[in-house]
Amino acid sequence: SLRGQFSLSKKNAQKQAGQKKKQGHNQKAAAKAALTYTCTVCRTQMPDPKTFKQHFESKHPKTPLPPELADVQA
Ligand SMILES: [Zn+2]
Repeated sequence: SLRGQFSLSKKNAQKQAGQKKKQGHNQKAAAKAALTYTCTVCRTQMPDPKTFKQHFESKHPKTPLPPELADVQA
């Protein structure tokens, strides 16, 4: 019936809107994934090793530097 088709296309529209929303979430997830360095002490996330090292040296000066930061030029 026409009524059935209408509700079907409405469902499809809702589905597409939902997919658009999902893409927005994915962008957020990608931005979050870019913060790949997590401080081993306070769990703060940082986008690059330089920031991580600066954070570590200023926030946790008494904690030994993680080995992956030893070679980083801050
Ligand atoms: Zn920290």
